[in-house]
Amino acid sequence: MGPQIHLFRCLEDNIGALIRDSESGACAAVDAPDEAAITQALAETGWELSDCLVTHSHWDHVQGIEALKQRYGCRVVAPASAGDVAEAADTIVREGDTICVGELAARIWETPGHCADHIVYHFHADDLLLAGDVLFVMGCGRVFGGDYDSLFRALERIRALPDATRVVVGHDYTLANARFAVKADPHNAALAARLEEAEARAAGKDLFGLTTIAEEKATNPFLRAHEPALAEAVGLAGSPPEAVFRALREWKNKG
Ligand SMILES: [Zn+2]
Repeated sequence: MGPQIHLFRCLEDNIGALIRDSESGACAAVDAPDEAAITQALAETGWELSDCLVTHSHWDHVQGIEALKQRYGCRVVAPASAGDVAEAADTIVREGDTICVGELAARIWETPGHCADHIVYHFHADDLLLAGDVLFVMGCGRVFGGDYDSLFRALERIRALPDATRVVVGHDYTLANARFAVKADPHNAALAARLEEAEARAAGKDLFGLTTIAEEKATNPFLRAHEPALAEAVGLAGSPPEAVFRALREWKNKG
């Protein structure tokens, strides 16, 4: 059996996620945006928290850590470069390390760009990626303390994962992302259909924070900087994808 996944809203637009190993019952919260929302999700599922997997040290991902630790005695896993958050963690991790949630094994990738200390967790045997604020549904993180080239490389690495890989993202910016994506890639039929899905889900207050690599390759402009249509959209026909990516991200920053 693969991992069980439960998503729920935290704060304004953060996505809370619980990842559970059904064999052992071990259960990890992805980041700690909001202790109360995580506690409510645990009550609804009946799952017991064993771990908290931190992707990066922005406040809206770590503010609930202390309260979760006190309440559940969970192990906190954090990137080695995350400063105070790393100092307070039980397990610090770097590129290439493997951590386990019960029997579920995740490899650590260092993915700076959104910020310098960002990591993602790749459960390779389960085709699951916890992407934090690197990749969003039809979007990607802003550059806050990282740099564009690093973010581009991180996204290229994620793009190379198998198509069936499921991706849990850190925020539900999906509708705004889809609207921007359609501006940048107006002749993409898969994207037009997905904008409709995002509108329907937003209208129904249905969280949209789980995607796949195949869907993102088809619709996410930040994974499509190699496509001539995207280069043309930013006036950079014939330019390398790094430059197209940066121009797309700067355009989105203004919106
Ligand atoms: Zn962030």
